[in-house]
Amino acid sequence: MITATNTAFAINGGEKAVTINDMDTFHWPIITNEDEEAVLAVLRRGAMSGTDVTELFEKEFAAWQGCSYALGCNNGTAALHSAMWACGVTHGTEIIAPSVTYWATALPALNLGASINFADIDPDTFTIDPDDIEHRITKNTRAIVVVHLYGYAADMDPIMAIAKKYNLKVIEDVSHAHGALYKGRKVGTIGDAGAMSMMSGKCFAIGEGGMLVTNNRLIYERAVAFGHYERTGASRYSNAARAITDESLLPFAGLPMGGFKYRMHQLSAAVGRVQLKHYDDRMQGIQGAMNYFWERIKDVPGVIEHRVQYERSTMGGWYLPAAGYCADDLGGLTVERFCAALTAEGVKGVSPGVNKALHTHALFHSADIYGDGKPTMCANTDRDIREGAGTLPVAENIGARAMFIPWFKKCDTTVIDQYVSAFRKVASNYRELL
Ligand SMILES: *Cc1c(COP(=O)(O)O)cnc(C)c1O
Repeated sequence: MITATNTAFAINGGEKAVTINDMDTFHWPIITNEDEEAVLAVLRRGAMSGTDVTELFEKEFAAWQGCSYALGCNNGTAALHSAMWACGVTHGTEIIAPSVTYWATALPALNLGASINFADIDPDTFTIDPDDIEHRITKNTRAIVVVHLYGYAADMDPIMAIAKKYNLKVIEDVSHAHGALYKGRKVGTIGDAGAMSMMSGKCFAIGEGGMLVTNNRLIYERAVAFGHYERTGASRYSNAARAITDESLLPFAGLPMGGFKYRMHQLSAAVGRVQLKHYDDRMQGIQGAMNYFWERIKDVPGVIEHRVQYERSTMGGWYLPAAGYCADDLGGLTVERFCAALTAEGVKGVSPGVNKALHTHALFHSADIYGDGKPTMCANTDRDIREGAGTLPVAENIGARAMFIPWFKKCDTTVIDQYVSAFRKVASNYRELL
């Protein structure tokens, strides 16, 4: 219950709704002696570089993911770059990717000489709009890159149907949704390849690191060939490869053809092996906390539920949980003002808007990154697919209708209840904020 004394807004000098300053609720990743011992063992053995620990981590990760191949990379960007090349994204080709995401979902395509055809997002899920994909496909399109943004699985069924119809590859960017289920299936290997970040801020956090997962042997071999020395039984000075089935790669066996070195740091791999053992349990903790919170705020005016709505689906580790926002429900109160009032109430982790639309950014319009004498986005294509303001309305306006919400790591109901009362307090007295 909100009492008369605490209805005065903290932003106007009233009492805060959140009085417990418990950062433990948000602490992540959870590092114990087990992680420390694993790292020390690698350090003491002098095995910081190399691949023996990483190969164990890959094997264990593939088993957890439920796929045939996992390839450890030094970050998620590298995993995405490798996945794109492995899926045939090369000079003069195109990918289709959502405009609202992190740069690395799409940007590596430019390095491969490809162009990016940005698609709009769905206003409720914030993931790529399946209805905005098909009309973008041309003979040059090679792959659709989807993102399970903020833990919400992209709607894979219609996307896979389109990919099948046009013989395109689907790459899943799993950086926000490790362990999430889409209709009972773990995201990452519903498409042809999955690529994910494991940097410290993500839900599966190992320091700096990334993982590529696939059931497709040729994609795996090509990803290895792109950025890894000596991973295929071949030395870098001989061509006597044993484990390569793709004959086009044989003459270059043992070499990173892309010119990149994308091997995972073994200290990260060591942390990853320990984190993986506990991930499902800890993810349950996050899910318990976030679902508890949502059950109590989903009917708060202005706040629109952002929880996966397909059957047998989960949000995985809930990286950067978001909510929809409807200013009209609160007399036009802006999301900026709503979040400022919550922050003043002691709420941590709220901020207005989400990732900004990428398609209007100068990097995808005017940057000549590789000295072609023209913008890289259209350096190698037979058409100009740059999209200006007004072309992707949902992506462009998402900033006013969405917000980040607190990312609770454990279900401490005393703390979460205070956050709930802060949301209720601000929403039910919004008129004073107008
Ligand atoms: C973090 C992130 C990446 C990049 O991963 P790094 O490990 O930072 O290279 C890619 N895609 C998305 C959606 C991300 O959030």
